[in-house]
Amino acid sequence: MISSSEYRQRLSKMRRNIYNNGKLIDRDYKYLQGAINVLAKTYDMITDPEFKQYEDLLTATSHLTGEKINRFNHIHRSMHDLLAKQQMTRLTCHQVGGCIARCMGIDSTNALSVITYMTDQKYGTGYHKRFETWLRDFQTNDRTCCCAQTDVKGNRPWRPHQQKDPDLYVRVVEKKSDGIVVRGAKVHNSFAPAVEQINVIPTRALTKEEGDWAVAFNIPADAEGVKQIVSIAMPDVPKGYDGPGPWGGADSMTVFDDVFVPWDNVFLCGEPDMGGYLALMFALYHRHSYTGCKPAMTDVLTGATALMAEVNGIEKEHHVKEKLAELICTSELCYGTGIAAAINATQSPSGTWVPDITYCNVSRRHAGLNIYHEYDILADISGGMPSTMPRPEDWVSEETRPFIEKYMARNPEVNVQDILKAFAWVQGISCSELAGVMQYAGVHGGGSPRMEQIAIMGAYNMENTKNIAKRLAGIKTGKPYAFDRLGNTPSL
Ligand SMILES: Cc1cc2nc3c(=O)[nH]c(=O)nc-3n(C[C@H](O)[C@H](O)[C@H](O)COP(=O)(O)OP(=O)(O)OC[C@H]3O[C@@H](n4cnc5c(N)ncnc54)[C@H](O)[C@@H]3O)c2cc1C
Repeated sequence: MISSSEYRQRLSKMRRNIYNNGKLIDRDYKYLQGAINVLAKTYDMITDPEFKQYEDLLTATSHLTGEKINRFNHIHRSMHDLLAKQQMTRLTCHQVGGCIARCMGIDSTNALSVITYMTDQKYGTGYHKRFETWLRDFQTNDRTCCCAQTDVKGNRPWRPHQQKDPDLYVRVVEKKSDGIVVRGAKVHNSFAPAVEQINVIPTRALTKEEGDWAVAFNIPADAEGVKQIVSIAMPDVPKGYDGPGPWGGADSMTVFDDVFVPWDNVFLCGEPDMGGYLALMFALYHRHSYTGCKPAMTDVLTGATALMAEVNGIEKEHHVKEKLAELICTSELCYGTGIAAAINATQSPSGTWVPDITYCNVSRRHAGLNIYHEYDILADISGGMPSTMPRPEDWVSEETRPFIEKYMARNPEVNVQDILKAFAWVQGISCSELAGVMQYAGVHGGGSPRMEQIAIMGAYNMENTKNIAKRLAGIKTGKPYAFDRLGNTPSL
């Protein structure tokens, strides 16, 4: 495993291919550091004595090399691995107050481990061996990876082959003896400018005539022809504020301008049915990751709400307790459902464990539908100060700071300096550009609630459920009792 400084050094050596606000920027650009700091934290926690007790959560043993690796690069080889991934995600997200950024890598990698194997079984291809060769390097060198799944998609009701411009979904435009050439663009690629590599996979189910769009591969994030047009969000931190971070995010429109991919890094090419399975498999793993990160985000909002109540001197009020309980119910329902998804996981033919579809999607949908309500509770208890409080430069100005300190006093039991810090932090998490991104991520990241509804209804056996009603109503069905949502009870 590598240190965070080695990770930063690797980034600094990458080719300049990041565009932001009309400029070509380096990876050491000031405002990109919020995103890079987040990923750096996943390296720092491995050696930080404070997290020694969580070593088994943060690391795992590679099934390929037997070496100790960062769990974010691990393939789930048991139900325990899925549970540990979920716990690790909640723990690490707490440290940065938001997205921990390495889940896109672990989720796409696990999905590829399942689908490359299945494709080989069905079509006699050799994708899984290639994938494992790549994985060996990925794990041994402790690399970072994001996932570019979401195509730009053009006119939504049209399929890839029906679009006026076929490049609106990433596709293969040429096959050569040594590799393929791909063209198109993916959007919303979280943390793409802060990682070394990108896993590119299809975004939806594909039809027979859509073989050119059934493509999956891994590519260096700075490869020739790859252009990242990024949106960066990092709140300004007042001088003298000694909190951790700064934390931020960066999402990329990743353009593949006729990019050459050597066969060694191609993990699917021309099998539309498997392209669809891969899209769903990544979404499933990613929604399972959300059963860790969404509770963590709600924990952050719950803690922030409790802190605002303390600062305002209203923590004993009945309505505050009711709202805090509501937040806890959202986080723990999502988390508990993620545990159920792991306990009811199944092992795929590749040996990789796959979480339960219904539990993952129920959790993600519930989180997505509640996200704005959670911010509503925080805003309610905070009052208006996070939205209008003096800006960082007024805080450091000798002329204005004494007034700010005098007039920001509230609960006499809380030091005014801490009141200032609390409001400044809550401004960052609820009222900044980054907060807006997190809210949209809460709805759409990993798939919008509508997509989860489709997955839930697709996996759910409504006939079995209806038969329970028919039996109770005395309607003869001739079918024995069967209900597949009772779940597995692990032996005690
Ligand atoms: C902050 C953030 C981070 C993200 N990170 C990543 C990432 O790292 N990697 C990645 O690949 N993706 C990422 N995503 C993408 C995410 O998965 C998508 O936003 C999500 O799948 C929705 O797709 P969309 O944004 O194209 O919205 P759309 O698909 O355009 O959805 C807009 C609306 O149209 C509806 N709709 C769409 N198509 C149809 C149709 N055919 N018929 C009827 N209704 C339709 C939808 O239900 C929705 O209500 C991220 C998104 C966000 C917001």
